[in-house]
Amino acid sequence: MQNKIALEEHYEMHIDATVMNLLAESEGFDREYLAGVAHGLQDIDMRVAEMDRNGIGIMILSPSPPGPEMVTDAGRSLDLARRLNDHAAKNLIAKYPDRLRAFAAIPLQDPQKGADELERAVRDLGFVGALINGFSNIEDEDTAQYLDEAQVEPFWARVEQLCVPVYLHPRPPMPSMRRAYQGYQGLNGSAWGFNVETGTHVLRLMLSGLFDRHPGVNVIIGHMGELLPFQLPRVDHRLRHLRPGAHGSHQKPLMEYLRTNFYITTAGVFRTSTLLDAMLEVATDRMLFSVDTPWESADETCPWFDTCPISENDRRKIGRTNAEQLFGFKQPAAG
Ligand code: ZN
Repeated sequence: MQNKIALEEHYEMHIDATVMNLLAESEGFDREYLAGVAHGLQDIDMRVAEMDRNGIGIMILSPSPPGPEMVTDAGRSLDLARRLNDHAAKNLIAKYPDRLRAFAAIPLQDPQKGADELERAVRDLGFVGALINGFSNIEDEDTAQYLDEAQVEPFWARVEQLCVPVYLHPRPPMPSMRRAYQGYQGLNGSAWGFNVETGTHVLRLMLSGLFDRHPGVNVIIGHMGELLPFQLPRVDHRLRHLRPGAHGSHQKPLMEYLRTNFYITTAGVFRTSTLLDAMLEVATDRMLFSVDTPWESADETCPWFDTCPISENDRRKIGRTNAEQLFGFKQPAAG
């Protein structure tokens, strides 16, 4: 399929020994894989060649962890987010303006400043939304601010006002939460811990009543829905038996929020039965193609997506037209 649009596609501005160590230690990746990822995060010409080979018309770029979410000092977090956003605009998108777009990095240690940075990125740099790597550290690596907490409200108000989506991307759980994975470091990150952490974060957003206060907000989640299409019906079923106050202040069944306030991307999952489950639970109109470059390869993802047994109408929607409508992209009709 030609002119696919891919949304969970990462870059880094600068990878030094500290960042390499953080990446290596988070999940225990081997050095050869990490060296390839580090190269892929920085080489934008190689990225566009990979898009050309695989029929990807547009990629929306974003920084993956470690990012502003992990910088506890609010001023330094803002500075990092601004530098990332300016780098993406001036050095990446400006080089391939027809092929690349970006989600803004957002510093949420000061949510008002985070809202201002989102507005700057959207209005001045032409960015199409925000990508946030999970909770923000506030005092140290074991303190978290989740996006449903009251102090983050100014950010969501601005999101709704600007009419842009927020991609909620994973990060590893806090150190104090990792006892369950002790002895099995590989479970901290993308193999398992990412999905549990992000799926739980989404439940917090839903239970807090965020989507009742801001019904126009759209959140995008990757990895075929971070376990939720499969598990959320049971969550709704079990919440019926809780006493008032034990399940937040939401007004609707959680599946209703998943179907009306969320988009789900295929990032990092190339399994047809999992795709079909997400399509059945959420609807094809809310599904979007993604790769998760360079942690995953378009050379592996695209041959699967281009040939998996779904209708051509569904493939066109997930691969291209849903994203064109969400972001207002115009591309030549093809494939
Ligand atoms: Zn990712």
